[in-house]
Amino acid sequence: MDSASNSDLLVDPYQVEIEISPGDTLMSVLTQAGIERGTAHALITSLATVFDPRGLRPRQRLELSVVPERPTEPASVTEMRFHPDNLRDVVVSLTDAGDYVAEEDKRVLSDHLVRSEGTIDSSLYVAARNAGVPMPVLGSLINIFSFDVDFQREIQQGDGFALMFEEKRTEAGQTVDFGDILVAEMTVAGEKKRFFRFTDDDGFEDYYDAKGQSVRRALLRTPVEGARISSGFGKRKHPILGYSKMHKGIDFAAPTGTPIYAAGDGVVEFAGRNGGYGNYVRIRHNGTYKTAYAHLNRIDSRVKNGAKVRQRQVIGYVGTTGRSTGPHLHYEVHVNNKQVNPLGVKLPTGKTLKGGELARFERQRAEIETQYAAIEPSTQVAQAD
Ligand SMILES: [Zn+2]
Repeated sequence: MDSASNSDLLVDPYQVEIEISPGDTLMSVLTQAGIERGTAHALITSLATVFDPRGLRPRQRLELSVVPERPTEPASVTEMRFHPDNLRDVVVSLTDAGDYVAEEDKRVLSDHLVRSEGTIDSSLYVAARNAGVPMPVLGSLINIFSFDVDFQREIQQGDGFALMFEEKRTEAGQTVDFGDILVAEMTVAGEKKRFFRFTDDDGFEDYYDAKGQSVRRALLRTPVEGARISSGFGKRKHPILGYSKMHKGIDFAAPTGTPIYAAGDGVVEFAGRNGGYGNYVRIRHNGTYKTAYAHLNRIDSRVKNGAKVRQRQVIGYVGTTGRSTGPHLHYEVHVNNKQVNPLGVKLPTGKTLKGGELARFERQRAEIETQYAAIEPSTQVAQAD
């Protein structure tokens, strides 16, 4: 703690910084800092009119302006300030009348557009971080392309990315928050894919290619995260039965308990024990497409025959039930009741913009293209993660 020893400065307040530790209350921190209980209580009572003191987190710092003790008067606090988050400041100050008033100042933020691009040497993650793409924005970028790109298997050295996103900055120029990606581009195995943000007439925000085709697919190609393909589609020697047999799905090796997602919206056609398939779920997505999931350790309790499921809803967990040599998901895509290669099949697409929506999209896309061309790619490293 600072302390003023020069008697000439007795009436000038000095600054004290205090920090909340786990288990502390504001009262305990203030009294430990030498503030009288009555003063501490008055500060806390005033603060509570704009900020719940129980909302102070460990490591939160508070600055106090303290007028030192004088022969006739005890030390007093003239001001207490802190930044509970990047968007506001809280100040409790002593009035001439001798009581405290608390104020919350919202910081004025402005929107900026940032353009970023890079070439992939090892992974998209490394390349994007090197280019200064903030983590939340990188997460959104991966989400946009998750229907289209298998990041673990399809990305090759020399592929690249480019994007433009919104950033919120304070008047001082500090980045405190991120908005949406407006345009996202990825070159995958030499092929360029580009998508633009658009909010449709129903208020749903999504990403569309230049022709107005949604990036969203009616079915996911990979219904588990972080899994590797342990057996592809086609003829193979069966690991248990020993003879050559058609493998009518794809096996994804993953630890027992890894969540399995519904590949698309649909109705559960079968959920339960199914011979060599072990615990098995089959979902009917429409008149043409079904998906099936086998060897589950456990089927989610909501997934029963006839139940509706949404895309990416967890339907169960990876296991090794039925005829299986180790924990994996056996995944099948059925087209007109025949198993097809999930990696090779042309998956049904999402929405295609038409008429007035398409015209509105075209105008927005042109505006985004103009903004994109007008700014230089950023080389600055992300500030606020
Ligand atoms: Zn299999």
